Amino acid sequence: MRSHSIFGNCFLERVTGSLCSFLARDCLMCYVTGKFERREYVMNPKITLGPEQSIIRNRQDLKTVCIRGGYDPFDDPHGAILPPLYRGVTYVMPDTETAERMVRGDEYGYVYGRFGNPTVAILERCVAELEGSNAEDFLLKGVDALACASGNAAHRLLITHFCSSGDNIVLSPYLYGGTRHLVEHRVSFANIEARFVEDPTDIESWRRLIDDRTQYLFVEVPTNPHGYMYDIQSLADLAHSFGKPLVVDSTIATPILLRPLEFGADFVTHSLTKCAAGYSQGMGGIIVGSREAIHHCRMSEARDEGSVLAPDVAWLIRLGIMTLYERVMAHARNTYSLVSALQQHPRIRKVWHPLSSDHPTYDVAARLLEGYPSLVYVEVDGGEQETRRFMDALRFCRNCVHLGDSNTFATHCWSTTHGVLQPKEKESSGIVSNGVRFSVGIEDIMTIIPDIMQALEKI
Ligand code: PLP
Repeated sequence: MRSHSIFGNCFLERVTGSLCSFLARDCLMCYVTGKFERREYVMNPKITLGPEQSIIRNRQDLKTVCIRGGYDPFDDPHGAILPPLYRGVTYVMPDTETAERMVRGDEYGYVYGRFGNPTVAILERCVAELEGSNAEDFLLKGVDALACASGNAAHRLLITHFCSSGDNIVLSPYLYGGTRHLVEHRVSFANIEARFVEDPTDIESWRRLIDDRTQYLFVEVPTNPHGYMYDIQSLADLAHSFGKPLVVDSTIATPILLRPLEFGADFVTHSLTKCAAGYSQGMGGIIVGSREAIHHCRMSEARDEGSVLAPDVAWLIRLGIMTLYERVMAHARNTYSLVSALQQHPRIRKVWHPLSSDHPTYDVAARLLEGYPSLVYVEVDGGEQETRRFMDALRFCRNCVHLGDSNTFATHCWSTTHGVLQPKEKESSGIVSNGVRFSVGIEDIMTIIPDIMQALEKI
């Protein structure tokens, strides 16, 4: 089987079967400083891999995309290795005719900050490559991404892009509290309904809520904070049988552990603020989808709403992604050790992690996830008071509402991330007053675990 995809600015040819020939950047047009001459060069020699090595090959690709994705120094007039930061808001256009076409989106080019920015585009291409380079369905139609000011801004943009008054979204109730509040309360003024599925693991439960005013299906995997995983392929098949798209928030997994487009999802969203950035250096969100769908969204609601990502922040996040692969591996090792330690502790009633064998959706997680996500939710053996005492006794782990950072954080979701929800809404999202969420960092695990153990003694 032969397939083609756009791999950054270059053409990636892939021949799958017993021989995998990976020939990247073999015929790339580039401009050499000042001369604008066309050059052809081969960057990677042909690498031949056996079929059993295909998973390793895929992982190596992700590693490389983290470092190089979305940008080629040969596209830069000076050959800068570090992606350049273009702060400027406006760009000169050669003539009125071209200007008209560029503003309409019929011709590619930068016009004005709200319509697109070269540094933001580097980040967008990088995330699109991470999510889509191996998604068979996207090889021909192409994959692209649209960066937004935050993860919530990305979700808000999708709502206004797809829905008008009277429409509905069918979605799982197990969501990050801010997403749930957005869909349930903020957009209801526009008469857009959020229809929560009773049992998201049951496909029939989804089917019952879909009607001709449904605009898309939405799911978060793994869910924050319980780590529920849903069968993306089955949900995509269901959505497509009604002619609707499936949107997956894959923030917690990151593209290193899960790439929903490969399982039939139409759009993937991320809060880039989290593990993608990795060091709490900036807020950002992104929507990844087919090139055509993203272009349509970019040229309509995105430019009107104006919740664009600032180039400085895009640049900082792109730098963060350089270490994403290695950080995700380090998070996974630490999380595995912490989950094992907590599962045996007498003051912990329950440990929620998607790859704990007693998790209700363990089978799906074991099939889809390529490693241990760094989010763990525990139910402390006690009530709210004991749980707060435990949190206040932590000395090393920091009490923050954030996650995916290189630092280890502990969060009392009941009173913070999900605090805006009514008690009933919290309960239906599985949030309990004795629950603590850990976002496991990449510090020394021999410092993280003893801190949590000593705090558990203080309950
Ligand atoms: N999606 C998930 C799974 C999240 O955990 C969060 C925030 O915690 C968001 C979306 C919202 O992202 P942001 O805070 O960047 O708006």
